[in-house]
Amino acid sequence: MTKEIYLTGDRPTGKLHIGHYVGSLKNRVVMQNSGDYDPFVMIADTQAFTDNARDPKKIRDSLTEVALDYLAVGLDPKKTTIFVQSQIKGLFELTSYYMNLVTVARLQRNPTVKAEIQQKSFGESIPAGFFTYPVSQAADITIFRAKKVPVGDDQEPMIEQTRELVRSFNNAYHTDILVEPEGVFPEKGLGRIPGIDGDAKMSKSLGNAIYLSDDADTVAAKVKQMYTDPKHVAVDDPGHVEGNVVFTYLDIFDPDTKQVADLKAQYTHGGLGDMKLKKYLIEVLESELKPIRERRMAFAQDIPAILQMLKDGSDHANKIAEATMKEVRQAIGVNYF
Ligand code: ATP
Ligand code: MG
Repeated sequence: MTKEIYLTGDRPTGKLHIGHYVGSLKNRVVMQNSGDYDPFVMIADTQAFTDNARDPKKIRDSLTEVALDYLAVGLDPKKTTIFVQSQIKGLFELTSYYMNLVTVARLQRNPTVKAEIQQKSFGESIPAGFFTYPVSQAADITIFRAKKVPVGDDQEPMIEQTRELVRSFNNAYHTDILVEPEGVFPEKGLGRIPGIDGDAKMSKSLGNAIYLSDDADTVAAKVKQMYTDPKHVAVDDPGHVEGNVVFTYLDIFDPDTKQVADLKAQYTHGGLGDMKLKKYLIEVLESELKPIRERRMAFAQDIPAILQMLKDGSDHANKIAEATMKEVRQAIGVNYF
C-alpha cells in the first residue's frame, strides 16, 4: 500500500528558530521516523519572494541555512524528500488555475494574511503575490496530493482555504483527482511560541528569535534580555508567572515539571530573582540546543553536498508534481494537442 504523503515547509527568510523546532520540526522528525508516511518538506523560496522580492540574496543565503537546520534536527534525506519550491514548475501553473477559483473577498477574510499585512507595515503597497500567497500554498499542498500538513497554528486558515479550493476545483471540472488535506497542529501552547520580547509570535522576520544556530553565548545573552514581569523589581517582590516569557519557555523546554512548578511557586511568593531564573533557563536550553548546534556545524563543512541533496529532492518532487499536473490539464481540458 502506498503511504500517506505529508507535506510541510518553511520560508527561507532566515535561519530557523526554537519556535519552529517545538512547533513543527520536532514533530516532523517523529513522523519521518515512524515509517508511516511518505514525507515531503519544502523550502518555500517562491513564497519568500512575496514579501522579499527585492532581497534575493537573503533568500538565496537562507536556502542553505534552512537546509542545515533541517539536517541538524534530524531530518534525513533518505526518508524525507527535501526540495525547493521554485524548482517545481507545475506549481506556478496550478497556482494560475486556482487563482480563478477564489474571490478577492475570500482572500481578504484570511485572518493570518490580515495580521501579517499589519505587522509588515505594507500600508497601501501590499504586493499582489503576498495577498494571494494562500492560493499558491494550496497548490503546494495539493500538487503532491498530501493528506497531512503538520504546521503551526498560524497556518490553520491556509489549510481551510486549501480545502475550499480542492472542492471548487473538483466541482468546476467534474473530477475527484485532488485531495482535501488535513492540518496536523502541535499540542496546546507549542503552535505559536512567543518571541523573547514577549511578542505573540517568535518569527524570523521580527528579530525576536533564538536560532538553532546561535552559539551558547548568544543564547545566554538573549535569555538575559528576555521579557519577564516588569513589576518584579527587587528579588523579594512577588512576581507574575503568566505572560512571563521565561516561564513560558521553561514550560516548553524543561522536562522536569516538578522543578518548574517549584520555581513558579517561589517566584509568585517572592524571593526568586530574574537573573537566577534566567541562568536556569539557559542551562535547560543548552542541553537541547548543544547537540543540534554541533550536528549543524558538521554538516556546514560541505555546502556542495547540501545543494546536491536539494537538487535530488527537487528532481524527485518534480516527478510526483508532473504526474498530478498531467491529470489536472486533462481535467480542465487544456491537453489540446
Ligand atoms: P516569517 O516571519 O518569514 O514568516 P516564520 O518565523 O513565521 O517566518 P515560517 O517559515 O513562516 O516562519 O513558518 C514555518 C512553520 O513554522 C509554519 O508551520 C509556522 O506555523 C511554524 N512557526 C513559525 N513561527 C512559529 C512559532 N513562533 N511557534 C511555533 N511554530 C511556528
Ligand atoms: Mg511565517
